Amino acid sequence: MQSRSAVYEDWTARPDDFNVIPLLRDARGRQYTYLRLSVTDRCDLACEYCMPPSGEDDHALRRDLLTFEEAARVVSVFASAGIRRVRFTGGEPLVRKDIVRLVELVHRRTEVEQLVMTTNATRLSELARPLRDAGLHGVNVSIDTLDADRFAEITRGGDLRRVLAGIHAALDVGLEVKLNIVPLRGRNHDELGRIVDFAWSLGTSPRFIELMPLGEGAKLPPSMRMNTDDVLEVLGDRVSDDAPAGVEGHGPARYRAAADGSGHRVGFITPMSDEFCDTCNRVRVTARGDIRACLASRRAVSLRNIIRAGGDDLDLAWAMVWSLSGKDSGHHFLDQAEDEHERVGMSLIGG
Ligand code: SAM
Ligand code: SF4
Repeated sequence: MQSRSAVYEDWTARPDDFNVIPLLRDARGRQYTYLRLSVTDRCDLACEYCMPPSGEDDHALRRDLLTFEEAARVVSVFASAGIRRVRFTGGEPLVRKDIVRLVELVHRRTEVEQLVMTTNATRLSELARPLRDAGLHGVNVSIDTLDADRFAEITRGGDLRRVLAGIHAALDVGLEVKLNIVPLRGRNHDELGRIVDFAWSLGTSPRFIELMPLGEGAKLPPSMRMNTDDVLEVLGDRVSDDAPAGVEGHGPARYRAAADGSGHRVGFITPMSDEFCDTCNRVRVTARGDIRACLASRRAVSLRNIIRAGGDDLDLAWAMVWSLSGKDSGHHFLDQAEDEHERVGMSLIGG
């Protein structure tokens, strides 16, 4: 087994006493309460801003993935270190074989308060009920258009009907549902209002995510990028200038209320136009078990290797602290060469 000091040899600030699981705090005082756990880097779609047409050429082999036991153990240590909420993501989490069993295992074994998932929903109509029964609280569904042909183009072959069926199935079984949209000029900018109306008609909140220059997203012409002000302009008088009352927030979305007083709301995730890094509370684990402090950071520590080398829960916990301790104050997406980002897409890191 690797000694603790070998695992942390680079970490200059380590305390003498390793015998307690620490709270996850970084050197800038940010505390981490939200884990995004990628369960696969594969997907049944290939959205043009995320996945190359023929899929990533660097997919993890099955033996490289965290097993369900390993994933549940990692989450349990995170929970002891202050993580309260876990989001399963990917790639597409629903293509991971037996995903319901993983959700159930994490639910049963850990002290996490809320389990949620981000999904493209193509398999959700069959899986919504078992996922809810396994302990899942809610899903964020990615849906960039309500036009079937356009959907097939953006996702390179996806069937919009399956996604819509998945959304309805999730609502029917009582999962909390939000919709994620990446606004792109020349792609879906002309139907953003329609998508908002659709989301509100279902009683859900739409959330617009600014395109990040990662992976395939870095290859799209900058003229396609729309920031929050661009989206607000398209939404016009649907949306008021005010934040809605009583909005809970676990993540970076900022919300605006519907202008008609209906109580509906719309969220904006603004990594490009209004960096929210100073309040970041999230940490990511890739499908291979690498902990990453930030989407934009190359810095990674393999929790899988620590487990497979016989490390104990304290080894894992202090590796988590070490990987977060030096986290930068911002993401610097725009400072780095674009081809740096092109190499690492959202589906490989976990979106
Ligand atoms: N397959 C699932 C899905 O599509 O919801 C989960 C993984 S996906 C990588 C998570 C989210 O990342 C999706 O809402 C997707 O639209 C978003 N996304 C992917 N690439 C992006 C990029 N370059 N910029 C902004 N958002 C992106
Ligand atoms: Fe797949 Fe989600 Fe990426 Fe689309 S955004 S290719 S559904 S992982």
